[in-house]
Amino acid sequence: MTAQLIDGKAIALETRKALRPRVEALIEKGITPGLTVIMVGDNPASAVYVRNKEKASQKLGMNGTVLHLPEETVEEELIALVKKLNADDTVHGILVQLPLPKHIEEKKVLNAIDPQKDVDGFHPVNAGKLLIGEKAYVPCTPKGVIRLLKTTGVELSGKNAVVIGRSNIVGKPMALLLLQENCTVTIAHSRTQNLSEITKQADILVAAVGKPNFVSGDMVKPGAIVIDVGINRVEDKLIGDVNFDEAKEVASFITPVPGGVGAMTIAMLMENAVEAAENYAAK
Ligand code: NDP
Repeated sequence: MTAQLIDGKAIALETRKALRPRVEALIEKGITPGLTVIMVGDNPASAVYVRNKEKASQKLGMNGTVLHLPEETVEEELIALVKKLNADDTVHGILVQLPLPKHIEEKKVLNAIDPQKDVDGFHPVNAGKLLIGEKAYVPCTPKGVIRLLKTTGVELSGKNAVVIGRSNIVGKPMALLLLQENCTVTIAHSRTQNLSEITKQADILVAAVGKPNFVSGDMVKPGAIVIDVGINRVEDKLIGDVNFDEAKEVASFITPVPGGVGAMTIAMLMENAVEAAENYAAK
């Protein structure tokens, strides 16, 4: 079997197009959706992500701003800036690009963001709301994965879903969103035993590990939907967590890297930012 490709790039483009009238409606009301991204230091991968976020928001007619702070910025300064943005009515979404330099405690900074402006969905208030099934800002990557899954037309309810990875930004929210879709969810991690026995039960397999080609074809159940969240830089190439060439022979649907989940993540960020501006407008 050769799997059908889930074209994240094309789906992301459609998603962003659909946001345009919502942005225009806000601008007509005198509210230009404002997304401010804070970057500390000079991590080259982060610089690319941040630039892409700025470009995407500006393309949509939003007020996309990047505040680039030096590596030596201290925690208090960064938190003071977040608080200033919390109080700024022209800023509807705030995103602090991770990772932060080691001398800054990420948790403290993320917790300082006003949950209503937390378009990354990392604040404990939004994480808690997701857990109990209340409306919240949902982390962009797992939110994008659900959208991609829905484009396959496959009924998600009742399916066995296995998520490899349990980070707060991908694995855990991913599992909760699949649970909301009525999947039977298993979360695997570095201490999981007999991993391939578990993955072979998965109708939906999501890999968020951070290890190139970690999921081999023989770990995939025939006919499964395989979602590759991994982005690994190997000799200047981007490689996923799934061995694409092997898995595509077994799966029914599969996402490529690049052009799969990564493309969708930015579209979901734009959607969260527009939603934040709409919520502000409705106040
Ligand atoms: P983390 O490093 O925070 O988490 C990795 C997870 O993988 C951990 O839960 C870890 O388990 C688990 N893991 C590690 N080794 C194994 C193993 N041998 N068997 C099973 N599980 C294992 O990474 P992130 O969640 O932040 O990111 C995961 C990947 O997704 C990365 O490649 C990242 O670049 C990519 N990513 C892509 C995005 C996109 O837009 N496409 C956005 C965000 C991330 P344990 O908890 O036990 O250590």
